[in-house]
Amino acid sequence: SMNDEEFRTKHDIMVDGIDQIKSPIKTFDEINVNYLRENLRKGNYHQPTPIQMQTIPLMLDRQQLIASAPTGSGKTLAFLLPIIIQLERPKSCGFRAIILAPTRELVKQIHRESLWISEGSGLRIHMIKNVNLASKKFNSKSKLKYDILITTPKRLEYLLSLKTIDTTINIDNLEWLIIDEYDRLFQSTFMKQLSTIFNICFERSSLVKLALFSATFNQYLYDWCKLNLNNIITIIIGQRNK
Ligand code: ADP
Ligand code: MG
Repeated sequence: SMNDEEFRTKHDIMVDGIDQIKSPIKTFDEINVNYLRENLRKGNYHQPTPIQMQTIPLMLDRQQLIASAPTGSGKTLAFLLPIIIQLERPKSCGFRAIILAPTRELVKQIHRESLWISEGSGLRIHMIKNVNLASKKFNSKSKLKYDILITTPKRLEYLLSLKTIDTTINIDNLEWLIIDEYDRLFQSTFMKQLSTIFNICFERSSLVKLALFSATFNQYLYDWCKLNLNNIITIIIGQRNK
């Protein structure tokens, strides 16, 4: 049978960053959560895509990563599946995962996908439509009863900037900060919002890990990650300059 190296070559998966990088999964059967396998089957998702093969085991191992894979290659499930597996059940200790995307339309798409794939988990996934409503909703007595937040950097920055305990969202137990389409986010205005968000997230939660996804490989960002994030793993699907 094929070793990891041969398997990665066959699927055009390149990895780099630490010595022992977890083996890619070969089928969804390796996900040992019944309702997730059932949801995938119902949705006619028979085989993981290359980005899913490599990202799922790494995120389950709590490895920070920066990944690039072509548009349409299944990046959304590549981060949703491991987050849902890891969060397991509703926990009422504040948001444990935050997913950021540059536009409201992308936020909606990720939210839609998260709803069908998480069905049966009981996890409470929220998308922010209106920051004023959100600041009330997430800050009322029920503010801890949320698990996953999907939003744009601008809205998150606003919610995190609210100063008093009563008005700020709870991220004390944040485990994952996912940045989708990072190549679009790492530009001028977004860059400022992101650095504020990073600082607050790393300050409030000692557990938080970062995972970044994009269609294109960005050398500048890759260098920035290498410099600022410990043991970050790079995943590149397909050729860099395609
Ligand atoms: P990307 O973010 O990489 O552009 P998406 O996550 O939006 O790609 O996925 C593109 C399409 O492929 C979506 O319609 C999604 O439902 C579908 N898809 C994702 N993973 C699989 C899979 N393992 N098998 C079949 N279809 C998949
Ligand atoms: Mg995408």
